[in-house]
Amino acid sequence: METTPLSFISHSNDLNNPIRIADLEDFENEYEDDSMKKLDDIITQEEEDSFAGDFYRCGTDWSCLNSSSTSANKRLKQCNLFESWKLPLKTNVEASTSIVPDKKTIQAQKPQQQRACPFYKKLPGTPFTVDAFRYGQVKGCSAYFLSHFHADHYGGLSKAWSHGPIYCTPITGRLIKMCLYVNPLLIHTLDLDVEYVIEGIKVTMLEANHCPGAALIHFNLPSGQCYLHTGDFRASKLMQTYPLLLNQRVNVLYLDTTYCNPKYRFPLKEKVLDFIVKVTKNMLKKQPKTLIIVGAYSIGKESVYLAISKALTVKIHANSSRRRILQSFGWPEISGNLCTNGNDTPLHVLPMSSLKFEILEKYLKSYSDRYTSVLAFRPTGWTFSESTGSELDSIKPISKGFVTIYGVPYSEHSSFTELREFVQFLGPEKIIPTVNVGNAATRNKMQSCFQEWSKK
Ligand SMILES: [Zn+2]
Repeated sequence: METTPLSFISHSNDLNNPIRIADLEDFENEYEDDSMKKLDDIITQEEEDSFAGDFYRCGTDWSCLNSSSTSANKRLKQCNLFESWKLPLKTNVEASTSIVPDKKTIQAQKPQQQRACPFYKKLPGTPFTVDAFRYGQVKGCSAYFLSHFHADHYGGLSKAWSHGPIYCTPITGRLIKMCLYVNPLLIHTLDLDVEYVIEGIKVTMLEANHCPGAALIHFNLPSGQCYLHTGDFRASKLMQTYPLLLNQRVNVLYLDTTYCNPKYRFPLKEKVLDFIVKVTKNMLKKQPKTLIIVGAYSIGKESVYLAISKALTVKIHANSSRRRILQSFGWPEISGNLCTNGNDTPLHVLPMSSLKFEILEKYLKSYSDRYTSVLAFRPTGWTFSESTGSELDSIKPISKGFVTIYGVPYSEHSSFTELREFVQFLGPEKIIPTVNVGNAATRNKMQSCFQEWSKK
């Protein structure tokens, strides 16, 4: 009964590092961009300044979108970029093989070394970095931006953080204070859609359509250069109406390329929510004593359980740590629908890592006086499969005993087509991918996409 829609589970489990931050229990890192961390590791082998200098001076095929503005002889071929990284050429030869040394090798070689901040987290011509907290003090950085509260972005932040002021949205600011005990004096919150001037540079946070508090960060330099850092985002039509994006050319786009591959064709979030509600109602017709469980990261996927809550007019049960976080958003729609006692509602939220048969069977037993079966949803873009495409009805759950688990393609990152549309709308001069950049073959594919998009 194993089916392709859930084949992602083995992948996810490999990366499944439950974290204990402060008093949070059993929350899971959103390690969808693990390869980004691998690139961080590579760059420790290189002097950060010379690498960044080479990169920005020369440009590369994969970062240059606007071919007309760049003469061909100024470009470096991809292999030259690797040479500038001082990566072993032997591994480059095989395009399909990762050039990244395995983690054990890296750890054995440099067990104690502080990793250097990779170039794509620094904004040239500014004293700013984005999502760069795990590198200690970054040379020349006097303002550290945080795009959103997911562990692979805030990694390195703690109550011991002392390297400089942190700029983020108010929701993210509350979360790093509440969950990570970051010194409140270092947290500077920026409201969405308001222009601030920081170190002489105009900065505006824009809704990123990712998780609560997530922002696209727009930088307008005195030189006239304009950067957009997407953090993690799901591109939407609404973004094409943002005045800042409509009215000014973006010179450099730092792009969340989590699903920058044509095979990722998952449907709109709204369609997936309708599907989830339909499946839930059908199940309850057949088996009224069903406990509905939604898997979620520390934050994100709220719309999934809110949709079920509305459709069934039931409350949402989550443990005390998650309730605290959800209440911190200040959204009455969520705060007013939470309940503390799991016996009071058939809709429960659990960490994504708990969506395993053994765990859910035990969970069901603890509610055996009320429920006889479990219907669980695992919402993530990784559930996509070629055979499923956007035909939601063809998604097959996996079942064992009284537990049924659906993997649903509910993604808080852009699909391939959404990415393309967003990039073509923006028409940036240069794109710097921030995810899946640790593999040569993937980088080359992304480069081809960017070039293709620039022609249309
Ligand atoms: Zn994220």
